[in-house]
Amino acid sequence: MSDLLKGKRGLVMGVANDRSIAWGIARAVAAEGAELAFSYQGEAFGKRVEPLAASVGSDLLVDVDVTDDASLDAAFGRIAERWGKLDFLVHAVAFSNKDELTGRFMNTSRANFKRSLEISCYSLIEVARRAHPMMAEGGSIITLTYGGSNRVTPFYNVMGVAKAALESSVRYLANDLGPDGIRVNAISPGPMKTLAGAAIGGARKTFRHTETNAPLRANATLEAIGGTAVWLLSDWGACTTGEIVTVDGGYHVLGMPQSENL
Ligand code: NAD
Repeated sequence: MSDLLKGKRGLVMGVANDRSIAWGIARAVAAEGAELAFSYQGEAFGKRVEPLAASVGSDLLVDVDVTDDASLDAAFGRIAERWGKLDFLVHAVAFSNKDELTGRFMNTSRANFKRSLEISCYSLIEVARRAHPMMAEGGSIITLTYGGSNRVTPFYNVMGVAKAALESSVRYLANDLGPDGIRVNAISPGPMKTLAGAAIGGARKTFRHTETNAPLRANATLEAIGGTAVWLLSDWGACTTGEIVTVDGGYHVLGMPQSENL
């Protein structure tokens, strides 16, 4: 353990289990001395998050459904009461109806379009607005995106549109909050074996394809994503904002698959 985040307090949103990207980030930032609060979505997830939070010394857990303003107000209220301030926030929350993460994009329903954008994009704006008054000494906010935002990936469908909107929101929020010393960035990992990842049609094939073709011949790991988060959330990231940082073994630089796989 070193102390890159010693004295900093942060809220981690989006741990569902020990394979969650948010958990990889929580472990890495806790190892650097950060003090953490966690939000979980409903009782069932709460039971899973509690022991994980305890293992990094946290007992500040709040139940948040990002579509429910009252739960957001209550959560930020509790954190303000306990800590007064917030140094960083990790937003690792996304949702789309699994039935529309397969088949043709053209068939996206209006209801699922709205819900996917609300949970996966608008929620970042909601939490940034609530974190803002608690970051009077400056702060750092990160979210999680995916390269399906600007390149078509099989069956990513409406989530690609949601991630494009999320990445644009990162740039607008970075500009809005920059004068107050608050940085806003996104980490864009390649495919990961998580609950959300498994909901996307053909997830296994996508995972294998990127693993066998990426320049590093490997997908991202929770450790590497965590390390990137440590950089962005610590003072070493002081001059970086509005950025989308890719952690995908280099897959995004390719124009076509490796010749050995053709
Ligand atoms: P995950 O299933 O572990 O985490 C998703 C989280 O979103 C869960 O904790 C869930 O409770 C939360 N969530 C969904 N709807 C919510 C709501 N209404 N209110 C509050 N929380 C809600 O999966 P993950 O892969 O760790 O996903 C974390 C982030 O990483 C997401 O933004 C996802 O799009 C992104 N991401 C995932 C991959 C991948 O391949 N798994 C790749 C790049 C980016």
